[in-house]
Amino acid sequence: MAVVGAGISGISTAYSLAIDHGITEVVLIDAGQPMAFTSAQSGENYRNWWPHPAMATFTNRSIDLMERIARRTGNRIAMTRRGYAAATRETDIDDLIDQLQFGFADPGGRSLRVHSGAKAPAYLPPRSRDWNDAPEGVDILRNEHLIREVFPSFDPAVRTVIHIRRAGDIDGHQLGSYMLEEVRNAGGQRVTGLVEAIDGRNRHVLDVRTDDGTARIEAEKIVNAAGPFAPRIAGMLGVNLPVRNTLQQKIAFEDSARAIPRDMPFSIDLDRQTIGWTDEEREMLREDPQLRRFAEEMPGAIHCRPDGGDHATRVKLGWAFNERTSAPEWNPRLDAHFPEIVLRGASRLNPSLERYLGNMSNRRHHYGGWYTMTAENWPLIGPMGPEGAFMNCAHSGFGTMAACAGGELCAAWVADAPLPAYAREFSLQRYRDANLMSLLAKLNRGVL
Ligand SMILES: Cc1cc2nc3c(=O)[nH]c(=O)nc-3n(C[C@H](O)[C@H](O)[C@H](O)COP(=O)(O)OP(=O)(O)OC[C@H]3O[C@@H](n4cnc5c(N)ncnc54)[C@H](O)[C@@H]3O)c2cc1C
Repeated sequence: MAVVGAGISGISTAYSLAIDHGITEVVLIDAGQPMAFTSAQSGENYRNWWPHPAMATFTNRSIDLMERIARRTGNRIAMTRRGYAAATRETDIDDLIDQLQFGFADPGGRSLRVHSGAKAPAYLPPRSRDWNDAPEGVDILRNEHLIREVFPSFDPAVRTVIHIRRAGDIDGHQLGSYMLEEVRNAGGQRVTGLVEAIDGRNRHVLDVRTDDGTARIEAEKIVNAAGPFAPRIAGMLGVNLPVRNTLQQKIAFEDSARAIPRDMPFSIDLDRQTIGWTDEEREMLREDPQLRRFAEEMPGAIHCRPDGGDHATRVKLGWAFNERTSAPEWNPRLDAHFPEIVLRGASRLNPSLERYLGNMSNRRHHYGGWYTMTAENWPLIGPMGPEGAFMNCAHSGFGTMAACAGGELCAAWVADAPLPAYAREFSLQRYRDANLMSLLAKLNRGVL
């Protein structure tokens, strides 16, 4: 059994094969160190909030499994659960409520709690980071005094906060390391080398370029967990995966002025915005074809969160606005303008961040990686074409949070074990379901 890719998807597949199915003759092959490529760039956030119930069920399962590991290891994976706080200046949020009810498969809205008064005795503010204490469901804050009290750093113009409660962050590296140790303890092996060719005619024969030359690995079954290079591995077996890559970036820096409260949850500004350049700056941006889009209206979903615990000072900012497809590279070229763009954008929801404009700490870390995604932004997990070939890929911006359930699902396909209800939807079979594909297209366009 060969798994190509020792990022979080490949490791979690090997883990489930070993722990759930007793399949321990697994070779994990990676061109580099485990967890060193896309998985090292993750923002490490998780949530069960999705436009479609299949993704909600899938990530709920993944969170169950992460909690199991947190419990078993004395929270080695540093799981927290202050939620996701999605903020908007809108007061008419009927569409958002419809989307939440649809995504949570909760037509009666029983999991949504609306708080319209300045006092909300039934609302538990996100003071504790402990995932054991946190409520389920969603709190919707619709009173500006209440919002100011709970989220003092937010733009005073915010009128609604949707507080998703089963959400937070983990240490993704520790999650990968824990599962990898378990795979090793069960007898799994690791090979460092680049898979250059696969002959799938009779079993699978992989040509692997290692530091010492070329190795030939034979396996009855193979799992493609090659992240951004999954289409290349699939191509070696004559399979064309409907997957593309876009580069997404983040920054992390020391918030020495403590602009962001340490108990602020992962916060998302839902509103579109036009960045507040001076007229002169805007003119200059408009003249440059590469930069023009930053002078125009930008999408919402910019996010900010404290990082490193309540006593640290680091803050992370991200904005996945790039929609341009690129050929993946091992060393993605980052956009030098991104730190300023994201800081300006994030200052709208958290105006206290403005103090860092033109003055960002030298200890800033600017990083990024590939969102490997299908058009409908669902993963691809299951059989991949030729007999004995499987895939666990296209994890876009959710691969850390989905890793445990994705590995479990892929391993169940490989082991020919009973499958969960969402198995077909995350496999290539979904493309034969025209109704589902048309629904997903509508959800992605925000039509529903
Ligand atoms: C900026 C950013 C922020 C993100 N934030 C979050 C977040 O907050 N929450 C979340 O859940 N997810 C997040 N993600 C997504 C998450 O990081 C990814 O979905 C996940 O890491 C993908 O893991 P993977 O194992 O599929 O891919 P990878 O980690 O890329 O692993 C694939 C492995 O395959 C190996 N490989 C490829 N080709 C070959 C070959 N030919 N031979 C041998 N080895 C090969 C590579 O070396 C690599 O190690 C984010 C992603 C980015 C880029």
